[in-house]
Amino acid sequence: MFCGWLCPFGALQELLNLLARRLRLPQVTVPFALHERLWPVKYIIFLGLLGLSLGPIELAFAAAEVEPFKTAIILHFLRAWPFVAYALALLVGGLFIERMFCRYLCPLGAALALPARIRIFEWLKRHKQCGKPCQICARACPVQAIHPEGRINPNECINCLKCQTLYYDEHTCPALAIQRKQRERAAMGTGGRT
Ligand code: SF4
Ligand code: SF4
Repeated sequence: MFCGWLCPFGALQELLNLLARRLRLPQVTVPFALHERLWPVKYIIFLGLLGLSLGPIELAFAAAEVEPFKTAIILHFLRAWPFVAYALALLVGGLFIERMFCRYLCPLGAALALPARIRIFEWLKRHKQCGKPCQICARACPVQAIHPEGRINPNECINCLKCQTLYYDEHTCPALAIQRKQRERAAMGTGGRT
């Protein structure tokens, strides 16, 4: 929930990507096979930071700079140029790959993703047509957290609820559109007889 709704750096990436789309900058869809191979990078970074936190605190603080949060949000880019260049490079990447940093690099996102495995409720709904063949939600997901066969990866999902908006949209979701058309035909049939 933090990643999708509360993280200021996530919001900054999202707003810049929105602007990039308005300006018609090309968007890169990372092939799923490569995309899922890049997922573990952020977990490795998180475990590295966790390991370093057991050693000298200066080293841990230096390594924590992998998070551009301090540069971009707390210090408003007013610091030494390597930090600024790093944060800007991530934001530029995010213009072409939505939430690039969140997807592949964010150690905080990785730490927050781990408890998703022990969730109690499966509250993100799916139709049996999801992924087989419908790919509408998979294309709409800002972090490509939906597998091509329709399954949502809870560790990668940021709970933005875009797929849930589509799930309940009977004008966009083909599974619901069929039911709506059947209802409308039935209503017309009933209307014709009365
Ligand atoms: S639009 Fe409907 S059927 Fe298609 S993936 Fe989304 S929820 Fe599933
Ligand atoms: S799976 Fe759905 S709720 Fe999760 S990030 Fe993708 S679109 Fe948002």
